[in-house]
Amino acid sequence: MPSVTEATRLRPLIGDHPAARLRARGIETVGDLLAWLPRRYVDYESDLSAAREGEHLVAVADVTAVEIFPRDRRRKAVGRNAIMRVTISDGGTSMPVTFFGTYGRERTLMPGVRAVWTGKVTTFNGRLQLTSPDVEIVAEQRADDEPGLLPLYTHVDRLRNSSVIIAVRVVLDQIESLNDPVPVEVRERHGLMTRLQAFRVVHRPRSRADIAAAMDRLRFEEAFVLQVALARRRADQARDRTISRRPVADGVLAAFDARLPFELTNGQQEVAALLASEMARETPMHRLLQGEVGSGKTVVALRAMLAAVDAGGQAALLAPTEVLAQQHHRSITALMGDLADGGLLSFEDGVGAGPDVGTRVVLLTGSLGSAARRRALSDIATGSAGIVVGTHALIQEGVEFDDLALVVVDEQHRFGVEQRDALRAKGAHPPHVLVMTATPIPRTVAMTVFGDMETSTLRELPAGRVPITSHVVEASKPAWVERTWMRLAEEVRAGRQAYVVCPRIGDPDERAGAPADEVDGGGDWAVEDSDGSGPVDDAASASASVYAVHTLLVEHPALAGVRIAMLHGRMTPEEKDRAMRDFASGEVDVLVATTVIEVGVDVANATVMVVMDADRFGISQLHQLRGRVGRGSEPGLCLLMTATDAEPALDRLHAVAASTDGFELARLDLRQRREGDVLGAAQSGGRSSLSFLGVIDDEDIIVAAREDAVRLVEADPELAAHPHLSSAVQRLADEDKAAFLERG
Ligand code: ADP
Ligand code: MG
Repeated sequence: MPSVTEATRLRPLIGDHPAARLRARGIETVGDLLAWLPRRYVDYESDLSAAREGEHLVAVADVTAVEIFPRDRRRKAVGRNAIMRVTISDGGTSMPVTFFGTYGRERTLMPGVRAVWTGKVTTFNGRLQLTSPDVEIVAEQRADDEPGLLPLYTHVDRLRNSSVIIAVRVVLDQIESLNDPVPVEVRERHGLMTRLQAFRVVHRPRSRADIAAAMDRLRFEEAFVLQVALARRRADQARDRTISRRPVADGVLAAFDARLPFELTNGQQEVAALLASEMARETPMHRLLQGEVGSGKTVVALRAMLAAVDAGGQAALLAPTEVLAQQHHRSITALMGDLADGGLLSFEDGVGAGPDVGTRVVLLTGSLGSAARRRALSDIATGSAGIVVGTHALIQEGVEFDDLALVVVDEQHRFGVEQRDALRAKGAHPPHVLVMTATPIPRTVAMTVFGDMETSTLRELPAGRVPITSHVVEASKPAWVERTWMRLAEEVRAGRQAYVVCPRIGDPDERAGAPADEVDGGGDWAVEDSDGSGPVDDAASASASVYAVHTLLVEHPALAGVRIAMLHGRMTPEEKDRAMRDFASGEVDVLVATTVIEVGVDVANATVMVVMDADRFGISQLHQLRGRVGRGSEPGLCLLMTATDAEPALDRLHAVAASTDGFELARLDLRQRREGDVLGAAQSGGRSSLSFLGVIDDEDIIVAAREDAVRLVEADPELAAHPHLSSAVQRLADEDKAAFLERG
């Protein structure tokens, strides 16, 4: 018989029925089964005497007696009229268990049967008991070599837990060794067990300490393989060659700096110097710039773009949505002033009024008319447009640049490894890449998700910025809600502006409290299912909509005369653009919107934000949203309205209200998400899931694995001496590619 490996199919080993059931769960090979870890463990030596009333009990115990009697004595003890009283024992203490109705249980729960009993402990006639617990029958007899803890696997339809245990045992008994991607010397340095040992322990544990050590080993492996992949990617990138873009003394950047109405902060200057030196190298820059909303990233990025223009190249700024692309185009042209017509005025029209440096800034989005689009494409192709602003389609659709020197990506969410690869492959000279994000990324997430980029952070806000104040408003208190609208009105009367953010769009004829349709999928910023504080259907049907809140405010006496408009993803690009323009120019006082305003919208005169049903949003998302107010010299105010009384949701909102530290909030947020969501949220083109590793909780492991990975790749870049590691890295790349293709 050929030896069993991780690729061996399960069916010949464990039989048709279990194999078919497991296959329905995507578990087809030995490797799949081994990686399918128990969801929890129960002590074989359960102690029923320790049970307390009200406690949720999980115990292994044997059936010692079964009694069935009628609920209504005049009728037979069958079906719903049967009460089944089972006595269970841990060998010392016994406990009654009551079921209402037999439903065939009488055929399986017989004296001598061992099972796991899960349920709430109650008192009846002064005795502790279980009522209608979950029952999972375990192997009939515990073998001598049975481990000390009983593994419980996620329930598989029509497959007993004990059958899974047997299947795993059969598999483990036949494996002599497993290919281990972690080299012996690395394993020994960290005192880790082998891969096979780890699987033996997690599936057949003797003690909880053993399980912890085995999990550490599996986590290390996952971190290590990932870090080796990233280290190789960095090494590859370091071999890429591009054109050095050196700063010039009296170009458009110098003219821009001379006009800038403020001093750059120290942080901005440092990052700017770093970008200049990296763009002057012949190795393409791959840098992630993070900083709170309003910390001045865009100005820094624009300076880098102007430097690229000075060096004879072009720069592209990619935004995640059309609204944001338009917004960027507006703010860049505003910041540049007449430098943005430089190309036009002085060279073409010969008017001579403009400065003698400058460049053309073009906007390329899907909603351009065909003539405008043709003109933009030609400006891009001839190089007369030095700066091109657009959505990601700009690079994906193969727009031809004359000489693309720098790509700036605003917000990393939709810009993954694959897109960076696409850029690297573009032409003979891969562009320098700068990714900007306002979502603070904890160190280990950066190491995991952006492990192939260097990171910089802008920590200080420009001087004169007053931190925003936030409060939770309980929607169940009408006086508080009224006070909120009064506050909004006061702010508008004082000449300032406000946002009211809603979790969904709704319908034109909808009023507050009416039933629902969808959340805003119109931008890339649709609301995520939040926190499980309620069923999703129910959540959607109760939440505030843009249309309903718009109507409410328009009709509200306190807001008489206040100009109120809407912004959401179902509007046409022209409508959205007009709404943003009117708000930016002050013709609209209050903008009722979905999260389309989350990123990048920049109106310094906006000082108040009300978030309706704030519990529907994640922590980081709220932090991001409120960054839209208080961007000028007036203090910002954020009112988080909520009707929830669920503790976790309220705790979250109070945490947001209490802290303005984006990093702290990001950690809190990530802790509450599943790991897959962490990575998915951070970057769609990167690792989509981790099986064992916690990005936040396993910082030590990730750091250690990274050090070893770097050392190993330096010594052996092709992994020639480590074939098992090499194939694990290859598998990872294949999975990523598959996941990326699935997402489309
Ligand atoms: P971010 O992109 O990080 O959100 P921006 O670059 O858009 O931040 O800057 C936010 C606002 O602050 C803009 O209006 C910008 O002109 C202004 N700003 C940027 N840097 C400074 C600075 N050093 N001093 C004063 N204002 C600044
Ligand atoms: Mg910005």
